[in-house]
Amino acid sequence: MAKVIQSVTGPISTDQLGVTLMHEHILQANWTMRQCYAEWFQYEPFIERAVEDVKRTVDIGVRTMVEQSPVCLGRDIHAMLDVARRTGMQIIAATGFFYTENQWTFNRKAESFYKFIMLDITKGMQGTDSKPGLIKCATDVAGITPVNEIMLHAHAMAAADSGLPVATHSCYANRSGIGQMDIFDKYRLNPKKILIGHCGDTNDIGYLEELLSRGCYIGLDRFGDDEKNPLEKRVDTLMKLCERGWIEQLIISHDYASFVDLGQYDWDVMKESDPDDAKYNYRYIHRYALPLLRQKGFLEEQIDQLLVKNPQAFFEA
Ligand SMILES: [Zn+2]
Repeated sequence: MAKVIQSVTGPISTDQLGVTLMHEHILQANWTMRQCYAEWFQYEPFIERAVEDVKRTVDIGVRTMVEQSPVCLGRDIHAMLDVARRTGMQIIAATGFFYTENQWTFNRKAESFYKFIMLDITKGMQGTDSKPGLIKCATDVAGITPVNEIMLHAHAMAAADSGLPVATHSCYANRSGIGQMDIFDKYRLNPKKILIGHCGDTNDIGYLEELLSRGCYIGLDRFGDDEKNPLEKRVDTLMKLCERGWIEQLIISHDYASFVDLGQYDWDVMKESDPDDAKYNYRYIHRYALPLLRQKGFLEEQIDQLLVKNPQAFFEA
């Protein structure tokens, strides 16, 4: 049944989600570096570029983007608001913290992380009225360390109390999706409201089915990142999982950002580039993955299941 959920520009009904990219980013740029160096990144030219990037994505039929930037990975609600207002894209933002061993996380209790997550949910994010539509948490290459475990508990507590769904960043190499589910189970979170992210970086069907059998969604969410896993392999794994009956628990997306300040992306170069200079962008699935899937016999109703029905069901659970 349709449900009202929060987008950055206000409440929307889940039956208005349409084609949804469930794991994307508008902007990820480190706040400390932004504040300390004007040369790190410039907001106004970025917005012009991002608006163009997202407009082109609206033009191919995408109605909604879930912006999964967590608080301490450069989440910028104002950038989401500016882009949403100028393009008509429905953007859903997340609350929650990325996992890094930063000093501010040391010796912090779950209740403290929880308090700030709940402030976003009840009062709005970053001084705006915008509320999050989901909770994002993360486990990275270090696995579930003592600090990360505390953080995961805090996010699970907030999910249990707010009723918001949860999306994660996980790492197949350390099987952290399983460890995350173990913690979520302690809080009796509905697995239909959990999306374990970055599962599409592996083609290990055994690991993926172990996760799927827990009842959660898995994110095959880096289409276009050929270095992590090339398109042919991503498509083969997706089709294998569909053949084995898991289509209703699969989410596809890109994990692309109009700008992310990872070391390989220099702002001075990016600001001069066109959003379509690189193949990897918000339109990769429509341009490259869907044609290949169709060529291999994938049906339109299966595409609709992945891009429309599953995102809707995730937010309606
Ligand atoms: Zn991401």
